[in-house]
Amino acid sequence: MPEASEALIHLSGLTKEQLVELVGSWGEKPYRAKQLWAWLHVRLAPDVDAMTDLSLAFRDRLKSLCASLRPEIARHQQAADGTEKWLMTLADGQTIETVLIPEEGRGTLCISSQAGCSLNCPFCHTGTQGLARNLTTAEIVNQILLVRGELLRRQDEPQRVTNIVLMGMGEPLYNYQAVAQAVQIMLDGNGLAFGSRKITLSTAGVVPRLAQAGRELGVNLAISLHAARDELRDQLVPLNRKYNLAALKQALQSYPLKQGRRITWEYVLLDGVNDSDDDARQVARYLSDLPSKVNLIPFNPWPGALFAPSTPQRVERFQQLLHQSGYVTVIRDRRGADIEAACGQLTGLLQGSRARPVTGIAAA
Ligand code: SF4
Repeated sequence: MPEASEALIHLSGLTKEQLVELVGSWGEKPYRAKQLWAWLHVRLAPDVDAMTDLSLAFRDRLKSLCASLRPEIARHQQAADGTEKWLMTLADGQTIETVLIPEEGRGTLCISSQAGCSLNCPFCHTGTQGLARNLTTAEIVNQILLVRGELLRRQDEPQRVTNIVLMGMGEPLYNYQAVAQAVQIMLDGNGLAFGSRKITLSTAGVVPRLAQAGRELGVNLAISLHAARDELRDQLVPLNRKYNLAALKQALQSYPLKQGRRITWEYVLLDGVNDSDDDARQVARYLSDLPSKVNLIPFNPWPGALFAPSTPQRVERFQQLLHQSGYVTVIRDRRGADIEAACGQLTGLLQGSRARPVTGIAAA
């Protein structure tokens, strides 16, 4: 029942059914589990003491058996455009990042699934830091609880977090079990209550896990493309050397996409590397038989980065070419540039990491 290897129980990593079972094993009535669930996921209690309608004896038991409900906030920053970033310190000292991107009528929370990442994409600051470890289900869910709880604490509206993207530090499909349980908890209609259309799992393309994720989770799928020819993608997304573009496409052709949904393709535009007219045409050809939309992401430079952002003219031209080929193509704003809000940047600053040298990336 408790998450393995930890003596303490991590309440926010339990599904409602597991919580009912746990509380029942202590001889408590099922309604106690309901109350506790509501305190955790709806009333966003920062600690057990806040759960004032639970008996003192029950609260004492929770305090003695359960881990603290919130990670420590190592740093919080807010950008001029309203983007907010929290750097959280986990129980073992690892740090992870969570970013809230407010937009008209919605707020997207970008959460991490691993501390660091093993995939080493050279344009990504997290990739320069290597993998420390997988996050537990509780550590994934706690990012949402912490941010909603912080909004509530400052008398803002917790429901401002309307969308979740698993697009922060790490490759979610390399931490599948913990991510799958976290998604199950996010989807619970009596808790965090995110609809499956409001959750997006972003992967670099872990081909053997795609079908399972599609079948079991039913959330939106985003894929980091960044190049539509193997020679270049091998460099920009090294996972491509294991699962190349043909293997990725084959997996996606049988992917159980829900009706009316499309795959979102993420494409970071790097000046002189993957932003030519030819690159755009290759992308259009590659996507031609898949229901797709494209997010173009102007590169957010970080200290020591080996790449520069494409010019606005290049970005627009790239978009125009994809539009002409019939793809919905959105240029994502560079949000939070003044607080290093691109993936892994704040952790990198604290750790003083540097980019690894990359050779052989040919201009397209
Ligand atoms: S872009 Fe994503 S998959 Fe690649 S190194 Fe960064 S976090 Fe990992």
